[in-house]
Amino acid sequence: MEKYQIFIGNEWRDSATKETFESYNPYSGEPWAKIPKCDARDVDAAVDAAHDALYSGPWGQMPPTQRGALMRKLAELIQRDADKLATVEVRDNGKLLAEVRGQVSFLPQWLYFYAGLADKVTGSVVPIDRPDMFTYTLREPVGVVAAIVPWNSPLMLMMWKLAPALAAGCTFVLKPSEYTSASALQFAALVREAGFPEGVFNVVTGFGKEVGDPLTSHPKVAKVAFTGGEGAGRKIMENASADFKRLTLELGGKSAQIVFPDADLAAAVSGGIAGIFAATGQTCIAGSRLLVHEGIYDAYLERFVTSARTAQMGDPMELTTQVGPVTTQPQFDRILSYIDIAKEEGARCALGGGPAVRPECGNGWFIEPTVFADVRNDMRIAQEEVFGPVVSVIPFSEDEEAYAIANDTEYGLAAGVWTSSIKRATVAPRRLRAGTVWVNTYRAASVMMPFGGVKKSGFGRENGIEAIEQYLETKSVWLSY
Ligand code: NAD
Repeated sequence: MEKYQIFIGNEWRDSATKETFESYNPYSGEPWAKIPKCDARDVDAAVDAAHDALYSGPWGQMPPTQRGALMRKLAELIQRDADKLATVEVRDNGKLLAEVRGQVSFLPQWLYFYAGLADKVTGSVVPIDRPDMFTYTLREPVGVVAAIVPWNSPLMLMMWKLAPALAAGCTFVLKPSEYTSASALQFAALVREAGFPEGVFNVVTGFGKEVGDPLTSHPKVAKVAFTGGEGAGRKIMENASADFKRLTLELGGKSAQIVFPDADLAAAVSGGIAGIFAATGQTCIAGSRLLVHEGIYDAYLERFVTSARTAQMGDPMELTTQVGPVTTQPQFDRILSYIDIAKEEGARCALGGGPAVRPECGNGWFIEPTVFADVRNDMRIAQEEVFGPVVSVIPFSEDEEAYAIANDTEYGLAAGVWTSSIKRATVAPRRLRAGTVWVNTYRAASVMMPFGGVKKSGFGRENGIEAIEQYLETKSVWLSY
């Protein structure tokens, strides 16, 4: 079994407790790595290292061009070790190797993009109405950043925070999910090899209560960047409120994809399939509600079910696999309980509806791709985030009805629209209350495009030029002659 250590001040160490917990491989259902079980003492050490690095170490004084150069070096090392990083992540979260390779191959883009911004952050001279004063602003790093990420895309969601934070000059303490800590620890070795000064990047591992809580309430942490679920998000907001830390929250979703009667049916089917079944439904942007016009409802459903039925399940390391296991045992149980709830509520199960018992699924946590048809939007299966390979198909008759159903959710992360009408393609993005709207595509992402939610999907934006703003403060300087 692999044994990992935590990373503080550019050094590897065991946790203060000297205890470890096991990380499981979702495909075999077996433990494969021992991860340090940290507590508040490790959090203190990591935050102190990050604080010192920023306020008394070389990082705080380093010119932005040099910070950018270190980021570019790190990008090169990721490219060199991409396969190793991807393999570790697949072992931990059971996501398809092909998907994880894709995500890892994009990580350098984030570093290059924000490295390019590092030396373009400038204050301004403000010509106030006082000839005896020289007034200007400085743009400074917000301080020590605590980043908390979930298990579904550990490295990618870390990078969305790390790259703008480094470009802004912040230092960073990461707590990965207790289910998927290994890839971040593997990544830490590259940060050291790239030559970052000690304390700029630190990783503490463990659970929400023992590590996440003390980290997000630590007085030396200035900003918390969180991706995860509603419960932890609420607790983190409470913690951050004690001393008014800066906060970004990327939370859950219940995203709708609307299939209008003039849609290209084949494209809408494959977009619907990728929307829900990618990463076995375990993505915040999962298109878990399919709103289909009644005129094409039967035809769409038949093609959708046929396509989902033939999806190849099995070992996520095999490049031919299309649907892998779910990542954790609790998640497996939770998804099955939602399937039961949907059946009790009267949704018609058109495909799947239980664990996948197939030879190619071994002992892993596999659930059949599941399609519920004729769902009403007030059913729990259409309102609550399942985070699994379960889709609700809902008929509609009028455009306004489709927008109303799509918006009738507490969440507002993403939405999809399938249409060949220019009018619908331009009206729908304005009518849908979501942070991202895709038209005739789904899941497209770029470092240049902002990402984030409205309503209960959280606030703040990652990616794009404005993400660096979330890691900067403005200082006003008044100089009297
Ligand atoms: P989770 O909220 O259970 O855990 C996320 C992280 O928070 C983990 O590292 C966990 O240890 C930590 N945590 C838990 N309690 C904490 C506390 N009290 N203080 C500080 N940290 C604490 O979420 P999960 O099950 O790992 O991930 C699934 C959720 O993440 C889903 O709701 C999904 O929609 C969401 N998600 C959102 C996005 C997005 O960008 N909006 C992306 C991916 C996942």
